[in-house]
Order: sequence, then C-alpha cells, then structure tokens
Amino acid sequence: MSLSARQKDMLKTMGVSLWNARHDVPELKASSVISEDISEDIAVDINDVENVEENKSYPVVDWLLLQKQVQTCQACDLHATRTNTVFGVGDTNASWMIIGEAPGADEDLKGEPFVGKAGQLLNQMLISIGLSRETVFIANILKCRPPNNRDPHVEEVTACQSFLDQQIEYIKPKVILAVGRVSAQNLLQTKETIGRLRGGKYFYRDTGIPVIATYHPAYLLRSPLEKRKVWQDLVLAKKIISAKR
Ligand code: SF4
Repeated sequence: MSLSARQKDMLKTMGVSLWNARHDVPELKASSVISEDISEDIAVDINDVENVEENKSYPVVDWLLLQKQVQTCQACDLHATRTNTVFGVGDTNASWMIIGEAPGADEDLKGEPFVGKAGQLLNQMLISIGLSRETVFIANILKCRPPNNRDPHVEEVTACQSFLDQQIEYIKPKVILAVGRVSAQNLLQTKETIGRLRGGKYFYRDTGIPVIATYHPAYLLRSPLEKRKVWQDLVLAKKIISAKR
C-alpha cells in the first residue's frame, strides 16, 4: 500500500522523513515512517498510518506514536508482569469513550480491553442503545494488567495517566462512560462509591467532557438485577450527547 500525495505532504510538513523497510518486503509494499526526534524502536508502520482517520486536530502520526509508546512503556512495575499492553480499541472519532479500570487475564492475553464474558456483556449493553464496539472507543485507566486483578496502585495510575489523557484529547468524546468503581473514582478524583456516583453528571477534569458513572459488566455478571440501572445510565449518557447536537 502506498502513500497518497496528501499523506506525503502531511508528513513532509511535520518534518517526518520516509524510508523503505530494511527487511524483505514483497513488492516493497511496506515502508516505515520515522520521525527524526524519536528512537527507531517506536517507528511507525506506514500501513497503520493509512488505517487511521486523518480528520483530527493534531497529526495522525501522534496517535500511532502514542500506541508505540504504550507498547514499550516501562514507567511502572506492571511492565514486568504483563503479556501485552492494552492500548484500547474502537473508533477514534467516537462520541462515546468507555473507560474501565485495567486489563484482566483475558485482556492481557489478547491485548484488547473488555474481552471474555464481561466484554460480551458490555457489547450487549452497547447494542441495547444502538451502539457497538466499533462505534465507540474502549480503553482502561491502566494499560497493563495488575497481578491477580488487584486494584491499581496510585503510583501506577499516575504513571499511566498521560496515555489516557492523550487518548481523550485526541478522541474528544462527547461523553465518557466510567465503568466500575475504580474507573469512576480515578476519573472523578473521588472516594465516593459507584452507587452514589451513579445518576450524576460530572466532568473530566477541566475538559468540559461529561462523565457518567456506571457499574462494571463483571459486577453485572454477579448481580444481574442491576442491569436495569446500567440501562438507565446509558440512557442518561445518550441524552447528554443528544443535547449537545
Ligand atoms: Fe506503562 Fe501504564 Fe503499563 Fe505502567 S501500566 S508500564 S505506566 S503502560
């Protein structure tokens, strides 16, 4: 896959130079982009560049560099026990951002957030209000799995904070759904219980982006009667988005 003239112009404007991959690539289909001021180990595959939307307020390459930075991050001790980092999945132009706590065992193995039974339930919840995994962006507070699924430590959240902040800044969602106690407490900087946070409209720091707190699907698997409350939370989030249009 080759670069369009527009993409080449964009990269040239940014001072990003192009070079052909050194490894053998059939028909020279793959090449890489590397910025002069970044190390080679976070070079961006040009094929990835073409798979990300361009209509963002800052360059698409920044998003890809962010992915590479997460992949190689060793800023906290969790890097030593992870199988994969879990960057996040979904639409980078999404109106909804779903933010959970941290990868569990399944997510760590697959490198994707909200997989397994809890992930399937999240998918159903999204479908129930006309959304899907592909039309939202799903991420976690932490990008690496805490051992034995323990709660994240403060220093881990602090170390990982800038990755989530950059994701939020890039996506600019119309609403953030904080899924579960740990997510809601960290996003809202509170010790309040999830039960008391539910039903309110908050904002993420000084961004002006509304935050709605709801139960984690893993909790719903244990307490299915609470699904109705999650439905109410999703409807509230949807109303907030509708009011913004
Ligand atoms: Fe880096 Fe975040 Fe993983 Fe810690 S949890 S190693 S800060 S990516």
